[in-house]
Amino acid sequence: CGITGYIGFRDAYPIVINGLKRLEYRGYDSAGLMMYDGEKIHLSKTKGKVSELESITNNEEIRKVGKIGIGHTRWATHGIPNDTNSHPHSSQSGNLVIVHNGIIENYDTLKKELVSRGYTFKSDTDTEVLINLIEEVKKQENCKLGKAVQLALNNVIGAYAIAVFDKTKPNEIIVARLGSPIAIGVGEDNSEFFIASDASPFIEYTKDAIYLEDEEMAIIKLDKGIKIRKIKDDSLVDANIQKLKI
Ligand code: GLU
Repeated sequence: CGITGYIGFRDAYPIVINGLKRLEYRGYDSAGLMMYDGEKIHLSKTKGKVSELESITNNEEIRKVGKIGIGHTRWATHGIPNDTNSHPHSSQSGNLVIVHNGIIENYDTLKKELVSRGYTFKSDTDTEVLINLIEEVKKQENCKLGKAVQLALNNVIGAYAIAVFDKTKPNEIIVARLGSPIAIGVGEDNSEFFIASDASPFIEYTKDAIYLEDEEMAIIKLDKGIKIRKIKDDSLVDANIQKLKI
């Protein structure tokens, strides 16, 4: 299973899809991606190989649009491998989109709570619970996306690598990890950022990489840069940029 993502000035589609191919060795049963074209979110997902995802996005708008995208290969833990359970998952409002590797162990309790607050669910995944929890926290606390992700993760038991996108704040992507890896490739002058489970999807574009530690989250803002925080106590962490070899 794996995660890829891009925010910057290049076409996101080839970076996301080729990145997913490089992560195929990690094993998976489904693949999907989101592209944002500056106005609309385009979601494509399917049970099966990345090559199948590529063929269902063949000739589609999704290939051409967007300098922002996230991709996912899934190893199903909650909900059978099928198109609906494949990632990315969006929130009830449609504004928030997530890709997730890992397991939300207390998803059932959280889901019941969200259902009682009027949320409905399209998939059987634990991941769709997490993105709606983030949406509900953001609404309740009237806070920024980064804060909402942090508060939500503090209510979660389990393991995760996630990337979250908000259509209403399209210049940023939030990533976080506990138990599953996340690397961030940093482009020159914060002009672009790459996200991936390991550095192989972005090594041809940048040699500057940050590896998140467990219980850290990164708020990645185009033109502004990266802020890394500890999920538990909110303290700021210095971004440790490593030089990739090769
Ligand atoms: N638990 C999530 C699901 O079943 C993510 C699985 C994964 O790591 O790919 O959809």
